[in-house]
Amino acid sequence: MNNEELIEMAKKVKVNAFAYQTGYKVGAAVLSENNKIYLGVNVEEKCLPNLSICAERNAFQNAFTYGERNFLKIALVGGMGDKIDETLTPCGICLQYMLDLCPNIKIVVYINGIIEEKSLQDFISVPFILNDKK
Ligand SMILES: [Zn+2]
Repeated sequence: MNNEELIEMAKKVKVNAFAYQTGYKVGAAVLSENNKIYLGVNVEEKCLPNLSICAERNAFQNAFTYGERNFLKIALVGGMGDKIDETLTPCGICLQYMLDLCPNIKIVVYINGIIEEKSLQDFISVPFILNDKK
């Protein structure tokens, strides 16, 4: 699965985003080490917006549900309505989530209209890492 194919899968699922509060729809496609794809969209919650979930974390939750624990790449696309933004990066919450669960994952996104493959270190210059002494 190359980066363009992964981006296309994120684009296809983006239409299912539930973004009635903002209108901003995001689709994500995670590629696991088992070479399986798990999809996710953003889902905005009605009463308590803090309960809304991003497409990336939704895709990971889907993958975890099916027993996946190791991931190679995640692609994401987003934009208002049917549009696709020329640049989109994961939010801070999703970056921290990936740092905790899959720190070596590659992130495939549009940067200025070009598909690029990034690492978490490209987005987080000084990461927060909890030293687990257990
Ligand atoms: Zn996010």
